[in-house]
Amino acid sequence: MDLTTFIQQFGTERKCEKFVQSQREKHGVICTCCSKKVSNWRSVQKYWRCSCGNKISLKAGTLMESSKLSLAVWFKAMFLMTHVKKSYSILELSRILGINRYRTVWYLSMKLRVGMGQDLLGKEYFQFLYLISKAKAQTSQLKAIQNYSISAILKSKIYKRDEINLIAPVDVLKKVEVEEFNLKRKGYRCLKVFGVQRKIELKEVHYAVKPDVQLWLSTLVANSNRMLNGIHHGVSFLHLQKYMFEYSFNYNLRSQDKFEKLKNCVLF
Ligand SMILES: [Zn+2]
Repeated sequence: MDLTTFIQQFGTERKCEKFVQSQREKHGVICTCCSKKVSNWRSVQKYWRCSCGNKISLKAGTLMESSKLSLAVWFKAMFLMTHVKKSYSILELSRILGINRYRTVWYLSMKLRVGMGQDLLGKEYFQFLYLISKAKAQTSQLKAIQNYSISAILKSKIYKRDEINLIAPVDVLKKVEVEEFNLKRKGYRCLKVFGVQRKIELKEVHYAVKPDVQLWLSTLVANSNRMLNGIHHGVSFLHLQKYMFEYSFNYNLRSQDKFEKLKNCVLF
């Protein structure tokens, strides 16, 4: 989608609201309380009302749930993040969106990254597991992800095109689980973002990789490392997987409409 079309379709809050309402109704709005299908839309208050008395707002049940940002800002962020080859740093994004609070933009972009990964997790990627440099640093907060690198790349067999799913090293993922558990006990707010991340299962694994594939994989890993170090200046292990989602998403959909795809990932 180009910028002109985007402004025409999502230029105002009203347009975004109408879009979300129609899309969600097409898909079927389900009550979080009694799991019944809801169709009673209150246009003034802007929510669906279930017969059980529950109110379902436009954002409820989507990735945007419990966010105070307007829908227009969400759509703008989605547009920006899907129309860049590499990635946006938080500061860059906050300047373009005109939001001064770093943390707000951080949450926004992280949730979108989680959204990008939803589709990847559902697919069966298996063919290759490619092991790169093992962890050198044992510190909990990594300055540069180079030390960890990405331990697995799996190639899809379903499509003839190259498709990847970069996965953070398994030991990193295990650490994340422990860390998330500790944070949850402390009642850390950040978990609203983590909670959406589902587990990644490695099914069939082949360690041996053909030389030509190995070359291709090294290029991919080098490029993704460059993104992490060059744009984000290092990423903590807690969030490494979300950046991996973004890279894989951008790579797999390089010739398609990424905005269209991300919109669906965020809404459903
Ligand atoms: Zn209900």
